Amino acid sequence: MTIGIWILGDRLTTKQLSLSNNQSNKQQIPVIFIESSEYVKQHPYHRQKLVLVWSAMRHFAAELEADNWKVTYKIAADFATPLQDWLATNNITELQITTPCDRPFHNLIQSLDLNCEIKFLADNHFLWSKEEFITWANSRKRLLMEDFYREGRKRFNILMDGKKPLGGKWNYDKDNRKPPKKNLSTPSPLTFEPDAITQEVIDWIKQEKFSDYGRIEPFNWAVTRQQAQQVLTYFVQECLPQFGTYQDAMVTGEYTMWHSLISPYLNLGLLEPREIIDAVETAYYQRELPLNSVEGFIRQVMGWREYMHGIYHFQDENYSQSNWFEHHQPLPEFFGDASKTDMNCLHQTLTQVEETAYGHHIQRLMVLGNFALIAGISPQEIENWFHSAFIDAYDWVMQTNVIGMGQFADGGVLASKPYAASANYINKMSDYCGNCHYNKSDRTGDRACPFNFFYWDFLHRHHERLKSLGRMNLVLSHLKRISENEFGEISSLARKWWKNQQIS
Ligand code: FAD
Ligand code: SF4
Repeated sequence: MTIGIWILGDRLTTKQLSLSNNQSNKQQIPVIFIESSEYVKQHPYHRQKLVLVWSAMRHFAAELEADNWKVTYKIAADFATPLQDWLATNNITELQITTPCDRPFHNLIQSLDLNCEIKFLADNHFLWSKEEFITWANSRKRLLMEDFYREGRKRFNILMDGKKPLGGKWNYDKDNRKPPKKNLSTPSPLTFEPDAITQEVIDWIKQEKFSDYGRIEPFNWAVTRQQAQQVLTYFVQECLPQFGTYQDAMVTGEYTMWHSLISPYLNLGLLEPREIIDAVETAYYQRELPLNSVEGFIRQVMGWREYMHGIYHFQDENYSQSNWFEHHQPLPEFFGDASKTDMNCLHQTLTQVEETAYGHHIQRLMVLGNFALIAGISPQEIENWFHSAFIDAYDWVMQTNVIGMGQFADGGVLASKPYAASANYINKMSDYCGNCHYNKSDRTGDRACPFNFFYWDFLHRHHERLKSLGRMNLVLSHLKRISENEFGEISSLARKWWKNQQIS
């Protein structure tokens, strides 16, 4: 038997089993990387996403080569042609691949006509394997993230004081998520100058015109494990102490606040979840950092991220087509060009995404996702857009975050109520409304904020469905304060808004 290893573009780690199991034999084992331009044509990806993935692949391939692995790097239109050639040239009889996290890619590999056995090895890049998550989920009546997170804290003994949570509580969000104060002094994100490999990828993407979405330069992301570790160290040193307090705040021109910016690297395999959690927990003990920030951050990586991955595998393929509210509006043109909206919150957030391929969680959930939800945009259209636009997007993390959390299209598998809000929330958590063409307090009239008329129209339209959720009753009781006449005006503003939209 001759073994060959195919390294996938989102598993750039020597810890994956195909590499760690064969370490002692590395000089004899052929390893292949494939950049397929056909695959990336499926989505109009942000150009910085393409640069990140291909540059990180090229760097990782060079590192393996320097470590004496027998590396082949192919740039091709598809996957099958270079694979077949390489398998034949090296007489490979068993192709080892880390099981792809994304279902569509797993299906694609299984459909390839290859003249050898394919051995999928377990993906060890999460704290909970998908089988462990499914066992946990099958043992529960309800799938609450908070229950899962507590189970993880106990299982991996993180922030524990014996059998009790450190400080006596599991969750310190009461001290987190404050509105932004004026003149906050935020840390600048750590940036990296493109090296020769990255510059070559940038030039090639410009030349080949794989996508025209998003600014390609300046490109400041890390592209190697070593650089990603610097991002983690910088976060722990400079941002972690304040992370929790302003986790949900949004400020004009402040793209990253105290957020970690580690998701692109975690999702590519350049960082491991356990090393992040350990670095943060160690800093807590060594520097006596505020527990609200430390616990709040660990909950993101150990709770939310693992939970989203688990739910993706717990659900079947049909999850991606969920549409509980039966929303079918198309994607407005301004999602592809921020200059085409005069709603300041959307304009600021979409401009930022165009410039960096990044937005923090509340910008994604409460500005972009919230707008799509209350305006009635198709969950699949908005999911496609998120998948194209964000630097850290992959199918497993998109389905759960966009279809489930953002759009509530799964009818409550993942969240107990929809994340829907009016301008009131955006005004409280940001400074966007102060500079907007619209009036944040109006839900009718010439300057009515679209977040307001869409919000009330959403509640009114889906009143019966929302009633069944129980947790929406208080919100729904406010509908009584609005007269039928006013609802007529609200719904005509919503209809008029759609009539005036250019569709992308
Ligand atoms: P921080 O705020 O510093 O958080 C730390 C880490 O926690 C993140 O890096 C991430 O690894 C993890 N995390 C926190 N929440 C989640 C979550 N809900 N799901 C998965 N991981 C989480 N995350 C992605 O990795 N890729 C995506 O494409 C993506 N799309 C999203 C779309 C929507 C509509 C929403 C609501 C959330 C999405 N998220 C996605 C989750 C979250 O917003 C990002 O992980 C986070 O903003 C990344 O920035 P950061 O590294 O600075 O995160
Ligand atoms: Fe957004 Fe409305 Fe505030 Fe303008 S007024 S920034 S549209 S929420």
